[in-house]
This record gives sequence, structure tokens and C-alpha cells, in this order.
Amino acid sequence: MPPFRLGSLLQPTSRRSFSRFAPLACRTSSSSQITNFSATAPRLNKPSQSTNWTPKMAPADVSKYLQQTHDSVFEKNRAWAAAKLGEDPSFFDKLAAGQEPEYLWIGCSDSRIPAEQITGLEPGQAFVHRNIANLVCNIDVNVMAVINYAVEHLHVKHIVVCGHYGCGGVKAAMTPKDLGLLNPWLRNIRDVYRLHEAELDAISDEPARYNRLVELNVIEQCRNVIKTAAVQKTYAANGFPIVHGWVFDFHDGLLKDLNVDFKKILQDIQKIYNLTEQ
Ligand SMILES: [Zn+2]
Repeated sequence: MPPFRLGSLLQPTSRRSFSRFAPLACRTSSSSQITNFSATAPRLNKPSQSTNWTPKMAPADVSKYLQQTHDSVFEKNRAWAAAKLGEDPSFFDKLAAGQEPEYLWIGCSDSRIPAEQITGLEPGQAFVHRNIANLVCNIDVNVMAVINYAVEHLHVKHIVVCGHYGCGGVKAAMTPKDLGLLNPWLRNIRDVYRLHEAELDAISDEPARYNRLVELNVIEQCRNVIKTAAVQKTYAANGFPIVHGWVFDFHDGLLKDLNVDFKKILQDIQKIYNLTEQ
């Protein structure tokens, strides 16, 4: 069996068969399903006259390829900066003056979901945090610092947790295999499955069950955002931020609003997680 590759987390899943989710059962037949997709890995846009990367490339060609793909980014950066200046000569003066984003975006690290590009947001309009499977863990200092800073200092009005169908992180979490350091991270998704086990087990169609787990994971991460003191106290004082759960679909490029009922969730969780008092 080929070794598990982290890169395979970010691969499309539409061509894979879905084994029945059985998080606590040892079904070795399903563990190989996330291992063989390196051939379809998304790659950097290549500069003109570039060498195509292949696994058996000679060392000199590998060096050439690395230099080309490095230089390509800077070429495109210069072109982007020139285009922005052409559109608005004061663009970078405004950018340097500071940020006042309306949105905090918490999304998956998947390379196919650039927050600004799929929403039409410009630089300065979204504060962005991304990790594998768009998780909001209360002991993750990174995401907690991002939420705190975005809410208390940037005064964002909207917090979006955006997942996506075909999420390799969610798929990997449901694979009965030891993934090393990823185990504790992805365990959060198994916990989502456990919380919603009856609903998920009742869905006989495997892709549909997997899609529903993606949605439920987004909703649970919204709940985790709402549990934070920063969100609860700032909302009580200002009436914002409000929290949204969205899912991106590769097949049509559209965002689906899960219509998370922010006020109801806030009310429900404050029975136990109320942090608004001094
Ligand atoms: Zn993902």
C-alpha cells in the first residue's frame, strides 16, 4: 500500500469511490482511497518555456524547474502591482494606510479556494485564516488569536466559516488509518461525526453522507466561533459580529449559505458557554 501523502488531502475526491464511513471500524479497504492522487495534484502556473515537472526528472532539471516556478511568482506579482497602479494610482497608498476589513474568513487550506478570488473581495476587505478542514479549536492559539484580533481590534462585522464539498481533510478524518500528527487535528472531525451520528448513519448514499458531514463540520465550527468570549461580548455590546456558515462547491464555483441561525445558536450555547459577564 502506498504511503499516505499530505498532498493527497487537497486532491479532488469526485473520482474516488466512497467507502461507508465507519470511523471506529477497521476497514483497510478504504484506507487506500486517499493515497493515490498525486498525479492530479494542482501545480503552480508555469512560466513560458518552463520544464514540466516529472518524478524522474534529472537533478539539474529539478533545479531549473524550481527556479522557474519561483521566478514566475515574482513576474506575476510585478504584473499585478502594475495593473493595480494602472487602475488606481493611489491604490497602494490606501493599502499602506491600514486595514478595516468587514469580514473574517476562516476557510480550508485547500489551494483551490482562494477567499478573495471566489468572493470578489479586494485587498483590505477580508481578514483571512485558513487551516486543514477549516477547524476552530479552542486550544489552537493561532485561530483563537485571529478571532480575538479580528473582533476586538479590527471590528469585523461578519465571521465566515467556509468549508467545501470534496474536502480531503474531512475525507482523511474518516479514514481508519493512523495519520500521525494529523490524528489530533482531524479527530475534531470525528467528533463532529459522533455528535451527528444518527443523522449521518441514516444517509445511505455515501457521497451525500460525506457532503452532509462537510456541512455539519462547518456548522460545528461556527458554534465554536460563537463560544468565544470575544464574539459573545462584542455582539452583546455592538450587535456584531454575526457568524455565517458557507460551503463552496467545485462543480459550479458557487457558495452555499447554510443559513446558520446565529442568534439561536448564541442563545442555546450561552446556557453553558456564557462568557459575557466581567
Ligand atoms: Zn478542505
